[in-house]
Amino acid sequence: MSIELTKHKNSIALLTGQQSDHIDELTKGIGIHQQVKKPWLALQQAAKSAGFELEIASGFRSFDRQLLIWNKKFNRQLLVKDKNNQVIDLSKLNDKNKVEAILLYSALPGASRHHWGTDLDIYASNLLPQGKSLQLEPWEYQSTGYFAELTQWLTEHAEYFGFFRPYDIDRGGVAIEPWHFSYAPLALQYQQQLTVTLLESVLTKADICGRSAILKQLTNIYKRYIMNINKPQNLGKHIE
Ligand SMILES: [Zn+2]
Repeated sequence: MSIELTKHKNSIALLTGQQSDHIDELTKGIGIHQQVKKPWLALQQAAKSAGFELEIASGFRSFDRQLLIWNKKFNRQLLVKDKNNQVIDLSKLNDKNKVEAILLYSALPGASRHHWGTDLDIYASNLLPQGKSLQLEPWEYQSTGYFAELTQWLTEHAEYFGFFRPYDIDRGGVAIEPWHFSYAPLALQYQQQLTVTLLESVLTKADICGRSAILKQLTNIYKRYIMNINKPQNLGKHIE
């Protein structure tokens, strides 16, 4: 499969989820980068042939949407869990530790890979047992979960279509997310262009909870949660 690379400087608004001109609505509420549509549909078709009804649970997410999630977690209106799926009592933490607890599963607004439209949380609707709702928790995708076979199939085939898992293992930053796939030809460029300075300029103006704690440790957050991810191994073969 040939993947076209278009290299150019992208706007701050695009990199930080404050622009959606490049996004197409695939199905109701699910947005995807225009250039990711074709590879996604190809992956979905291949999955179908293998017996998986591949669906997107979450695609493009705007800065404002991520900000709402962030602030709700910070204010304890949404639960924050640890790596063992246990709820963390944020009332006992200082702002610095609250920020770290949230970053395990939620990206900093402005730095979510979902802002780009290149990153998708996926599952197989036909493997989800009746009456069960999708949680996007690691156990669902691991060896005893409903999606174990899908996980295996994606490990073998996703890179052929340009997709890789940025959060494949625990690197001490973002927790493992077997459902999260990134379209490398575009996402690698966006990641490179998203700098600490750019993020700082956006967050300084944002109405974000924990702002001073975030800004104080932004360089560390950038290294530990934003750049500290998997790199695609075999994509080179398929990029022409
Ligand atoms: Zn995701």
